[in-house]
Amino acid sequence: MSRPMTITEKIFAAHAGLAEVQPGQLVGAKLDIVLANDVTAPIAIREFGRVGVDKVWDNTRIALVPDHYTPNKDIKSAEQAKIMRDFAHAQGITHYYEIGCMGVEHALLPEQGVVGPGDLIIGADSHTCTYGALGAFATGVGSTDVAAAMATGESWFKVPSSIKFNVTGQLAPWVSPKDVILHIIGMIGVDGALYQAMEFTGDVFDCMDMDGRMTVCNMAIEAGAKSGIIAVDDITRAYLEGRAERTWTEYHSDPDAVYTQVYEIDAATIVPTVAFPHLPSNTRAAADARDVKIDQVVIGSCTNGRIEDMRVAAGVLKGHKVADGVRLIILPATQDIWRQCMHEGLMDVFLDAGAAVSTPTCGPCLGGHMGILAAGERAVATTNRNFVGRMGDPTSEVYLSSPAVAAATAVAGHIALPDDLS
Ligand code: SF4
Repeated sequence: MSRPMTITEKIFAAHAGLAEVQPGQLVGAKLDIVLANDVTAPIAIREFGRVGVDKVWDNTRIALVPDHYTPNKDIKSAEQAKIMRDFAHAQGITHYYEIGCMGVEHALLPEQGVVGPGDLIIGADSHTCTYGALGAFATGVGSTDVAAAMATGESWFKVPSSIKFNVTGQLAPWVSPKDVILHIIGMIGVDGALYQAMEFTGDVFDCMDMDGRMTVCNMAIEAGAKSGIIAVDDITRAYLEGRAERTWTEYHSDPDAVYTQVYEIDAATIVPTVAFPHLPSNTRAAADARDVKIDQVVIGSCTNGRIEDMRVAAGVLKGHKVADGVRLIILPATQDIWRQCMHEGLMDVFLDAGAAVSTPTCGPCLGGHMGILAAGERAVATTNRNFVGRMGDPTSEVYLSSPAVAAATAVAGHIALPDDLS
């Protein structure tokens, strides 16, 4: 009989071929999916060339997504994308997504059924942790780790310990999954879960749709975590139905599994929240931030660019105009989401309000393109990072919020709640 284990420990044991593992143990483990993007893949490809193997370990298990500076912003980004494109074609990579098919990687891979429960996934991008929403262990690594993984299909890990966040009760109106994770990060800080797995449980998550669960797990890295994870349930299974490209294995934490800490959080204590510059943990109630005037609002990204986010934003914007002097940029995260926005009439709402709607791209989230901030400008964004200079000039400011608060802010011209709009 093996020791009681968390979901995360069970995934590691299975992929390391061991009956059990414990936190802190170093293991070599087989990978299910290896990911890189147009920033990180070119470095990985160069290092792969130095490893001395001709072919990748499995051309169906590598995902290459040109999403950061694409459609190419300049000559340098075009060259980066070309390195990845040429490699993908030479290696026959089946999960390479050209412009016109691509989306923001952490919205795209779950949507396309590439990642699934029980998987062990690494990606040369810190928000790879998003896939924990599907009951997978997924984490960001460096490009050289991806190079080695593309050659061998394996990587080494220190098994993380787990922290449990049990959120129970009922969320108030306009309190979204983004507010839940901002609340948690505000509570524990940007290093509150350092090198640990954040396991989310409780009836708030039991009722949360997959888009919301991905928002929560996406931001685990902003608390310093190795990963975020939510156990598979009927909502997960329904999401996977018709889209999962492989069979999957479900793992559940044993009732007596050991956690370094268990946080019990009453959902009623969570309010619409904004993270002020320059840390995701610098959180305040949106209701207390109405004096913050805004130049730009960005709704999109791997955190909040999914269809539920678009629906919420459109619901708030409907019948309103963007305030004078404010730019509203909306980025549906994938082509499918874009198309769905069109079918549901959300595009009309966005355009009627005076928003610019972009093709899927990371763009402004990392200060890449499609909405760079000038000196001293302020943006509210549904993205995940508000570090100094993240979206432009070092003196600009980024305030992180939910799609509902972002949309209301675009209309009001200052940080606002949807109920503030007449
Ligand atoms: Fe990174 Fe932003 Fe792109 Fe997400 S949307 S992958 S955080 S650059």
